[in-house]
Amino acid sequence: MAELANRPLNFIEKIIEDDLRNGRVPNNEIVTRFPPEPNGYLHIGHIKSIALNFSLARKYGGRCHLRLDDTNPAKEENEYIDAIKDDIHWLGFDWGEHEYYASDYYDQLYQIAVRLIREGKAYVDSLSAEEMKEYRGTLTEPGKNSPDRDRSIEENLRLFEEMRQGKHPEGSYTLRAKIDMASPNINMRDPALYRIKFAHHPRTGDKWCIYPMYDFTHPISDAIEGITHSICTLEFEDHRPAYDWATSIDGIDHTPHQYEFARLNITYCLMSKRKLLYLVNNNFVSGWDDPRMPTVAGIRRRGYSPEAMLDFVNRVGVAKVEGMVDFSLMEFCVREDLNKRAKRLMAVLDPVEVVIDNYPEDKVEYFEAEDNPEDENSAKHSVAFSRHIYIEREDFMENPVKGYHRLYIGNEVRLKYAYFITATSIEKDESGRITLIHADYDPLSRGGDSPDGRKVKGTSHWVSKDHCIRAEVRQYDKLFKAEIPGEATGNYLDDINPDSLIVINDAAIEEEAAKAKPGDYLQFIRNGYYCVDSKDSAEGKMVFNRTCTLKDSWAKQKAKMGL
Ligand code: ATP
Ligand code: MG
Repeated sequence: MAELANRPLNFIEKIIEDDLRNGRVPNNEIVTRFPPEPNGYLHIGHIKSIALNFSLARKYGGRCHLRLDDTNPAKEENEYIDAIKDDIHWLGFDWGEHEYYASDYYDQLYQIAVRLIREGKAYVDSLSAEEMKEYRGTLTEPGKNSPDRDRSIEENLRLFEEMRQGKHPEGSYTLRAKIDMASPNINMRDPALYRIKFAHHPRTGDKWCIYPMYDFTHPISDAIEGITHSICTLEFEDHRPAYDWATSIDGIDHTPHQYEFARLNITYCLMSKRKLLYLVNNNFVSGWDDPRMPTVAGIRRRGYSPEAMLDFVNRVGVAKVEGMVDFSLMEFCVREDLNKRAKRLMAVLDPVEVVIDNYPEDKVEYFEAEDNPEDENSAKHSVAFSRHIYIEREDFMENPVKGYHRLYIGNEVRLKYAYFITATSIEKDESGRITLIHADYDPLSRGGDSPDGRKVKGTSHWVSKDHCIRAEVRQYDKLFKAEIPGEATGNYLDDINPDSLIVINDAAIEEEAAKAKPGDYLQFIRNGYYCVDSKDSAEGKMVFNRTCTLKDSWAKQKAKMGL
């Protein structure tokens, strides 16, 4: 993969290259997998895992499977599966025909379980969840054997069969591996292999009322699929002995290996599906794809590009130590990318009208604007200019403060691409609000050039009153106002940023904006990067989302406060 070429190998690449050199990889084919549990939408953390698994397969000429880890029927929905697939494709990766489901292996897993019972390596336990916890011991104390540990093989087989037939209620029995209740690793103290759950499964329907546990399902699924390098996040490190136990069960003839890397954490973001689901269910956001959500669907709708996100996870790198990545780094990557590709438009978010009294009433001129001045071969579009224009309300001051060099009475500014104008007078309504600014223009300054070398300090963007579209603009900001939501307050809900969305109902945007489609990358000059909202925008009633500001105002603010 091109972007990986110029940096040192990460620790997983080193392992892979070493394995390849030493003939430890069957057929020399690297096989990885991305194994999401379909209990929510993918978040930015998953991008790291997706990029890693798919890029490794690509780099070493292998393949990467998509495996939906659907062993928890109560929480899974087809909507999530569709969204997961769509998001991976959006990132530019594809699993080809290798789409698998842990539930594909339920029959095999069941047979393996029966075999373990026959070999005396698994038993049916009637301890309650509570008792099992008690028997498990602690990090410093060994566990105790369950009274059922020595149940006869015949009885175990009968009970397990009855569990499968639905003869016992949830929680009454579990199937456990007989490993070692004194193991220093708690995950090896006779881990549960199966539990009873009367739940309809999206794929297997009502065929099963016993479901295999993660530590049993995952390694065996990896083995069945011929995964060579099973990459997961650090919290599974303690489960590796259980993984190795499962993949060395007699009769399993392929041995995958598990490697753990540090999960991606980003300041101001929650990266837990459970918490994100809570935000969705309780209407703190409009849905999983709310542009403030750190979900792939959310950032897509916000206007982040896949290229920017892959650049971001690449810069973060693959490490073995947990850390917190600054939100600013992600936005930096987004801006770098958008600066290169965004089409520049003029949008006046808070319009105030300017009438240019010495400009003919019915004259319209068209100025040429480069779509992107960063691009030598940029396309161009034209912007209409007329006697009646809008500028930003904040670009005029009745009583200018020191250092203000935009428009005020008697001051001259440049209208981008067009002319120099000088404000002459204002009109107000009863409340004192400015309703109209009168100005004169200098015909010799056409194109925004100084006719005699005189200096104007301010340049304003503008739109022609009769040549603009009126649109809704959603000013998005961070969803949380604390770097680590919940850390100081004890509840992440208390850290929600009340200003994370400010809706502007009636912005005035140059007509060219009407051509923009969802998926286009835009810059509203001086205001930020924007995109067309993919859900709510309609012809004649467009909605634009702010992707990010042009500069990192938060970083600046923080610097000012000496943080
Ligand atoms: P969550 O805690 O948000 O529910 P999860 O780990 O349960 O996440 P899965 O669907 O099980 O989510 O994860 C699929 C894969 O993505 C796993 O291999 C997991 O290790 C990886 N992954 C999950 N979160 C992150 C993250 N923040 N950074 C990197 N990889 C992650
Ligand atoms: Mg999970």
